[in-house]
Amino acid sequence: MTRKEYKLAAIGGDGIGVEVVDACLEVLTTLADRDGSFTFGVTKFDWSTDRYKRTGAFMPADGADQLRAFDAILFGAVGAPDVPDHLTLWGLRLAICQPLDQYANVRPTRVLPGIQSPLRHVNGGEIDWVIVRENSEGEYAGQGGRSHPGLPLEVATDVSIFTRAGIERIMRFAFNLAQSRPRKLLTVVTKSNAQRHGMVLWDQIAAEVAREFPDVTWDKMLVDAMTVRMTMRPDSLDTIVATNLHADILSDLAAALSGSIGVAPTANLNPERDTPSMFEPIHGSAFDITGKGVANPVATFWTAAMMLDHLGERPAADRLMRAVESVTSNPDLHTPDLGGNATTRMVTDAVIEALRGRN
Ligand code: ATP
Ligand code: MG
Repeated sequence: MTRKEYKLAAIGGDGIGVEVVDACLEVLTTLADRDGSFTFGVTKFDWSTDRYKRTGAFMPADGADQLRAFDAILFGAVGAPDVPDHLTLWGLRLAICQPLDQYANVRPTRVLPGIQSPLRHVNGGEIDWVIVRENSEGEYAGQGGRSHPGLPLEVATDVSIFTRAGIERIMRFAFNLAQSRPRKLLTVVTKSNAQRHGMVLWDQIAAEVAREFPDVTWDKMLVDAMTVRMTMRPDSLDTIVATNLHADILSDLAAALSGSIGVAPTANLNPERDTPSMFEPIHGSAFDITGKGVANPVATFWTAAMMLDHLGERPAADRLMRAVESVTSNPDLHTPDLGGNATTRMVTDAVIEALRGRN
């Protein structure tokens, strides 16, 4: 039987991004060898803040186009303490997500076995959410500008753009996802009391799309109240959809509630599969621990499982998650962010060993 080859673009980026992506590529090689039906043809790209400092650009001008030739993109993290964050975000992550129209950012949140949630005193730490973040417009549309520098009337504007087409497609994606999950529960998050145009349209379209999904139970929340509900009544939530900015904030909260930002994965999806999707851990480049060998690779392994699922390799995705969960179950294999002493190497080796079936 010939093995199917997936063309995988690997962009480690900066700091621990490179470390966790390298660890993940080792795991993927083991997984593919074990499975036998597919393999990964990996191309590494050095697109990063480092490249920006050397050449003035995070990636080549046709970078996003180069990525179209791949089946999927594995991304680490980008950013360095001495380069402003907005340059990094627009120079690389958004410069890939926007042209490739990866409009659905999906962030599963679950407390993996052996990991303690800060919510363990609320409901025993039971969380099983998926946050869907609108990933193409809204507050990150990049519209606005600055004028009159230095004068008292200096003005800076950031204009949020919400389109019917953009809201409809993310809403439909979220309702579909909610429908595919056992509880069929969707919470639509807005700030429609204060933001009286885009957010009101968002509420209106939610109600319209809801009619196509009569078996999904849905409700609306204001984003501020949502933070309270996530921490006080976590089990009342399942699938959550929110704007680019709101979901960004809520998913950092969700990551913390799942035990550590080091275990939280995300996928930037083009659900129609017209273009490759991009898979990454939620965390950043974390220069405070770079080079120490203690970055938690679990978020990246989990996002690789999401990638396998997206590629249609569900059994391999499940096998990878079972291996990861067998490792998180052992406190001796917790990295410092989870309160342990394990290294990236130890966690990676343990996952590889579990995949080989030796434990
Ligand atoms: P960015 O500016 O891109 O958000 P960052 O350097 O601020 O990047 P974050 O991802 O926001 O880093 O993480 C905040 C802190 O959490 C890090 O400084 C680090 O101490 C810790 N952290 C993040 N990811 C991991 C990980 N995978 N393993 C262990 N600790 C982590
Ligand atoms: Mg940060």
